Amino acid sequence: MIKKDIIIIGGGASGMMCAVKAKENNPDKSVVILEKQSKIGRKLLSTGNGRCNLSNLNADNTDYYHGSFKDELKTVYKKCSMVKVLEQFSNLGLSTNMDSEGRTYPFSNHATTVLDLLRFKLEELKVEIIQDTFVKSVEKKNNEFIVKTDKTNYGCRKLVVSTGSPAAPKLGSDKSGIEILKKLGHKIVPLSPALCPLEVVDKSLMPSIKGVRQKGIVSLYDGDKLIKTEGGEIQFTENALSGICIFNLSSYVKDLQNPVVSLNLNFVKENYGQLFYVLKFNRERFKEREITRFLDGFYVNNLGVAILKSAGIKKLNRKISTLLNNEIENICDTIYDWKFKVKKPLDFSKAQVCSGGVLGSEINPKTMESRLVNNLYICGEAVDINGDCGGFNLNFAFASGIIVGESL
Ligand SMILES: Cc1cc2nc3c(=O)[nH]c(=O)nc-3n(C[C@H](O)[C@H](O)[C@H](O)COP(=O)(O)OP(=O)(O)OC[C@H]3O[C@@H](n4cnc5c(N)ncnc54)[C@H](O)[C@@H]3O)c2cc1C
Repeated sequence: MIKKDIIIIGGGASGMMCAVKAKENNPDKSVVILEKQSKIGRKLLSTGNGRCNLSNLNADNTDYYHGSFKDELKTVYKKCSMVKVLEQFSNLGLSTNMDSEGRTYPFSNHATTVLDLLRFKLEELKVEIIQDTFVKSVEKKNNEFIVKTDKTNYGCRKLVVSTGSPAAPKLGSDKSGIEILKKLGHKIVPLSPALCPLEVVDKSLMPSIKGVRQKGIVSLYDGDKLIKTEGGEIQFTENALSGICIFNLSSYVKDLQNPVVSLNLNFVKENYGQLFYVLKFNRERFKEREITRFLDGFYVNNLGVAILKSAGIKKLNRKISTLLNNEIENICDTIYDWKFKVKKPLDFSKAQVCSGGVLGSEINPKTMESRLVNNLYICGEAVDINGDCGGFNLNFAFASGIIVGESL
């Protein structure tokens, strides 16, 4: 067995940041990252569409997060605010930019810059990085952790689990780390995909509008009960609703009996009456055209036709002049409140993060140390907390990694 002082399982966002702080704090101790993939930080490179949205101006506001660690999160951000996270990056030499919505990116707009600066620092500090090494299990005997990998066994007194979640398995993610934590006695809040598209139940109209993007307001309901509303660009895919606003609703769906998403695609700034008036006016102006062209001034044609079909308008090859007032009312209703029954997300392949993980009350937020197993620390997505789109998840990964590193 190879003995080390501090072992970090998982060289992702939280593990790399943790290793930097751990070695800075303990220059004379051996700090090792065990990473199952051939390179550390693989997921980081895919974040923010390759731009790495690493933090957010509102990252310390716990309203943007979900999960059993939410109450403890306040303590985490008191210890390590987003300003401290950005200071840490500044110390690594990273220059950042914030967009109008508070999302923070590297000035280069390339995730590789973030990863390179973390890697250079790890090299300079002489953190040992052991790649292509899968940790199969961990046991604790006489105050020592025995970390069994597919190559060899390691022993250490202090262990960090920063293995992330099963979201986006094509980037190498799985739930092996969560299983390790479960075997060490932790309660795991069930895992489900979050920040993901929502598959619709009735797909009949979807192929015709696949690829369309349209700004609007989206509301999630459980039956008739409003759960949450978001605004932004809605993307229609072959079988699902997608886009950041949909992603942000997706974490709530798993708890609902009858999840329904309503799209409000109103293009008239004023009210319903105004919309009705505009459409009636257009019935006169464009009376000779086919009904399929009725919404052409507002939406791409295939989206307009899908709205007409959803509004129950029959015989679309009629002239626009033949539209009855009650048909125009139905079109207005659909534009304002286009309902899609959606399924509970089950597929991790399209999810950016995972909801669930180690139960929040089992982790001390001041240190991120397990309350059940001394000298075991947990950071990043393995914890039952997940944030909205916009840099919240990476910010938590980095902040929790910093806290662990400083606690070791
Ligand atoms: C496509 C995509 C885009 C995203 N974009 C953003 C964004 O722009 N902003 C944002 O805030 N969040 C984003 N996220 C979420 C963010 O990437 C994660 O929340 C974050 O990476 C979690 O960090 P982590 O350290 O917990 O896990 P990870 O970064 O996933 O790292 C875990 C590491 O542990 C390793 N590992 C796992 N199990 C073992 C084992 N048994 N043995 C050895 N090694 C193991 C893995 O290989 C991996 O390298 C995105 C996610 C995806 C999938």
